[in-house]
Amino acid sequence: MTDIIDGNAVAADVRDGLGDAIDTLADADVTPSLATVLMSDDPASETYVSMKQDDCEEVGIDAIDIELDPDAPAEELYDTIDDLNDDPEVDGILVQMPVPDHVDDRAVLRRIDPLKDVDGFHPENVGRLVAGNARYKPCTPHGVQKLLAAADVETDGADAVVVGRSDIVGKPMANLFVQKDEYGNATTTVCHSRTEDLAAKTRAADIVVAAAGVPEMIDGDMLSEGVTVVDVGINRVDADTEKGYELVGDVEYESAKEKAGAITPVPGGVGPMTRAMLLWNTVKAASLQHDVPVDLP
Ligand code: NDP
Repeated sequence: MTDIIDGNAVAADVRDGLGDAIDTLADADVTPSLATVLMSDDPASETYVSMKQDDCEEVGIDAIDIELDPDAPAEELYDTIDDLNDDPEVDGILVQMPVPDHVDDRAVLRRIDPLKDVDGFHPENVGRLVAGNARYKPCTPHGVQKLLAAADVETDGADAVVVGRSDIVGKPMANLFVQKDEYGNATTTVCHSRTEDLAAKTRAADIVVAAAGVPEMIDGDMLSEGVTVVDVGINRVDADTEKGYELVGDVEYESAKEKAGAITPVPGGVGPMTRAMLLWNTVKAASLQHDVPVDLP
């Protein structure tokens, strides 16, 4: 029997657990707050931001919605970040990526106060994660860790293969797997577009995390019996549906499910966890900045 890892259920547990931490903060007159900054008229980015705002409101986090004209000068975004950095009422800041071409995205990430960087992308937070002293783990790989823990998948001593080396998923995922801690201690291989014989790598893995953004590129033939498969990919492919498309992962689900001991579906796997872990980081940000200790789930 393959264990289908239910990301919606695990995310709901995380949100429930955060409720206790939010109550503890409320006892100290603190309401966590997240400012989202959108400088784009891309419908997907607008949807992501509004989902994040809704998630916040659902658990009792104040959501501050800032929208900037995509044609505005970069300085307007920098000034907005500076104001949010200085505002004691703001615990977390998230600038929705991608920003317009005339804005340097690395400069944006560096500008955010590391204590308010709930995405965990500021170089200081990246460095802390690599050094094994993470403050804010990036939401998607952190969510994957939580999923694996919830499914009782042991990482200690496991051979983990991460397909993808982006700054937001692949690299932090690999960095978490190699840490000498409860959810790490995996022997970790990072694959990318220059990897030769990817199938040989994935076949040798106990855990495969697919984050390449290539629809259904990993199928059952590329996996060994009993492997745990975490599919991060979210890809739109043309389909005969009302919307004209459907969402598929980087894993060819049906054939992979035949081999896997445990697998995450798309949708309903990693996606809900990414959203939940943003709330987690925001609550942690409030706890750190207001000096109110909380138990995080
Ligand atoms: P990027 O495009 O930034 O990175 C993709 C990575 O995959 C790159 O490192 C690339 O290699 C590698 N890659 C591409 N093609 C291949 C291939 N054929 N074989 C091996 N490696 C390959 O993507 P992201 O990391 O931002 O996102 C990856 C996927 O995850 C996307 O589908 C995205 O939508 C999804 N996503 C889902 C989230 C969720 O919450 N579920 C959150 C974030 C992303 P190279 O570096 O050599 O170019």
